[in-house]
Amino acid sequence: MIVSLFYDPISAQWTASGQLFAASAPNDCALFQGQCLPLSPYPMGARIFWGMVLPLVIITLLVFGHEAWRRICPLSFLSQIPRSLGVQQQFIIDEDSWLARNALTVQFCLLFLGLNLRLLLANSDRLLLGIFLSLTILAAVTIGFLFAGKTWCNYFCPMAPVQMIYSEPSGLLGSKAHTAPPKTITQSMCRTVGKEGQEKSACVACKVGCIDIDAEGTHWENIRQPDRKLLYYAYVGLVIGFYTYFGLYSGNWNFLKAGVWNETSQLSTLLAPGFFIAGQAIAIPKLIAVPLTLTLFSGAAYAMGLWTEKCYKRYNKQLRRPLSVDVVQSRMFASATFLAFNLLFFMGVQPTLGYFPILIQNLISWAAIVLSSLWLVKTWKRSAQRYTRERDGNLLRRQLGKLDIDLSQFLEGRSLEDLKPDELYTLAKVLPNFTQEYRQQIYLGALRESLEKRSILPANSLHLFQALRQNLGITDEAHALLLEKLQLEEPQLFPTKPTDHADSSTVVWRIGKSENKPNVAANTTIVRPRKKND
Ligand code: SF4
Repeated sequence: MIVSLFYDPISAQWTASGQLFAASAPNDCALFQGQCLPLSPYPMGARIFWGMVLPLVIITLLVFGHEAWRRICPLSFLSQIPRSLGVQQQFIIDEDSWLARNALTVQFCLLFLGLNLRLLLANSDRLLLGIFLSLTILAAVTIGFLFAGKTWCNYFCPMAPVQMIYSEPSGLLGSKAHTAPPKTITQSMCRTVGKEGQEKSACVACKVGCIDIDAEGTHWENIRQPDRKLLYYAYVGLVIGFYTYFGLYSGNWNFLKAGVWNETSQLSTLLAPGFFIAGQAIAIPKLIAVPLTLTLFSGAAYAMGLWTEKCYKRYNKQLRRPLSVDVVQSRMFASATFLAFNLLFFMGVQPTLGYFPILIQNLISWAAIVLSSLWLVKTWKRSAQRYTRERDGNLLRRQLGKLDIDLSQFLEGRSLEDLKPDELYTLAKVLPNFTQEYRQQIYLGALRESLEKRSILPANSLHLFQALRQNLGITDEAHALLLEKLQLEEPQLFPTKPTDHADSSTVVWRIGKSENKPNVAANTTIVRPRKKND
């Protein structure tokens, strides 16, 4: 695909007049800033990438979730080549560093920059798009060479925020990591193939609360972060601003249907008028008009999102049974995703589908509406409480099954599998002789299983298992003691221990100074593996 951006003697013939991908425009010319420009054939590389591949990626994210895309993402794959070759340096971004705390904002800024570069240089200019993609790949491979895990994906990739928007808390058909059996390598968790050909975890804990391990868990863990609001609300504005700009630039709303892909030398347009409104060219160069448009639209959408959220929260407070803050926030984000998806489809994708018969175009449009509506309904019903109940119920069920207590007399013909999470908690509480020792045994088993699956890390286990502790009557101090006991007895469960990666030791790379260290158990020492020869 990238090679075709530099040399493509084939696809131009498909866009010649009368061919499948030719623009259907009156007089075979495209209206641009008051002029009728001839529609000459052009090679299709840029159009295929932006107009076909990218929309398919967005649909994949919404339907199959982040886990599906991360496993086939070419950039993620390329960034992992140094690891496959065994030449990867083992730096890890410290979770308390400036970069770790601001990763989402950094990635959003890179996305904003990328959209500007696309409008200014790489939308229809194949050579510049080829250079742009090659440099992005080079950056991904360099980061993949320097850092362990998926540091490129988690800290730098400009597409990561887009993945988050369309696939958190989960895709329409996404799997549930929090109810997966023990020892499962969940979702798109880093993995490798062992000597016997079986898959095994290759997680080096490069990110606390990793979306690859449990996308929904990450969603609820970070839902109150202010950077999420910026991302979700401003992104809606970015989508609107991006597609509106084609109209503001060309002076008509058909430019996406005919003309946009014919502008094959974008460099020469940078200083040309960037707006053509009401039949007048505005003397603002495109170089300024593009960032101005995207800033204004994303800023306005962010402000509107915050205002709507405030109104929703006020309305929620007046309800007899108000929703939790997390649910209100999640529903606001889900609405933003629904809006962004449909705006992107109807403003940006649908106008470019002219090569399909009308019936197929209509079917695709209805499919987009139905899929995004089903996703919204699914997401609307989720809550942090429900997620925690499902996860803890699942852990509790397995741990209760391991106790040397005959449970059948309490189950009235049902099995542990039939009990809902609340019933499991109740069972645990009413069992006679269910001593503190048994409770600790259950809690320790749940901790062990979750650490094994990497669905929690020592650093966030105190916070994430709060509800489980409350229900089992375990104190924070007991949690710290149990964690310490686990670290002594089963150090391999602690991902930052060299024992887990004896052949690939690691050092921490700290960017900026730590200010806070949230949710770390007081007695928990986080040990990072050290670099070879260190
Ligand atoms: S935290 Fe583990 S699974 Fe997630 S990206 Fe890093 S190494 Fe991979």
